[in-house]
Amino acid sequence: MSTCSDSQVALKALQNVRTMYPLVQQCQKSLNDISTRHAVGLYWVPGHAGVRGNKIADELARGGSVLEFLGTEPALGISRPDTRRRIRRWLVNQQWIRWRGLGDTQRQARELISGPCLGAKARFLPCNRTKSRVVTSLLTGHNTLRRRLNLLGLLDGPLCMRCGAEEETSAHILCECETLVSLRHAYVDSFFLETEDIKSTYNSGGHLEL
Ligand SMILES: [Zn+2]
Repeated sequence: MSTCSDSQVALKALQNVRTMYPLVQQCQKSLNDISTRHAVGLYWVPGHAGVRGNKIADELARGGSVLEFLGTEPALGISRPDTRRRIRRWLVNQQWIRWRGLGDTQRQARELISGPCLGAKARFLPCNRTKSRVVTSLLTGHNTLRRRLNLLGLLDGPLCMRCGAEEETSAHILCECETLVSLRHAYVDSFFLETEDIKSTYNSGGHLEL
């Protein structure tokens, strides 16, 4: 018995030995039962290629699609991978909406981060909680540096406790403070950095795409 289909997805689903879909399991069982008595072959054919029987199969499929649904309810017209893709796209969309909705707030975060990023999660997840907290607080500006403490009314001045020349912000500590040039040179091989360097490092995995 030969079964020809122009759907590679359907044929691959039938070959999957660990499928979770009841309808596919039912088809596999039927094919296995038939194979005890007859040779069974599954063949892919190009769609609309004028293959003999294609037109009849299309008409039968159209007729079948208007019949009452057989299988586990509720019947969803989309596959699990497609569902995952749609949810992910929705989540990414929500992230961008929230990011763009920040407006003029979160100045320090926007100075060092250019948007939701693909690689950030992969880079931060292996870090322990202390390291993750330090990185997150530096990138977002929600930290205990003097500019923020001054804004919160917990300190009298925002100037850097190391050099006293500039406001003590994440960008100042990471990129500009002259007292940290040797540390910067040791870790990133540069005495000073631009905020764009931090942005490009953070976003090196690419932005989350819609
Ligand atoms: Zn400084």
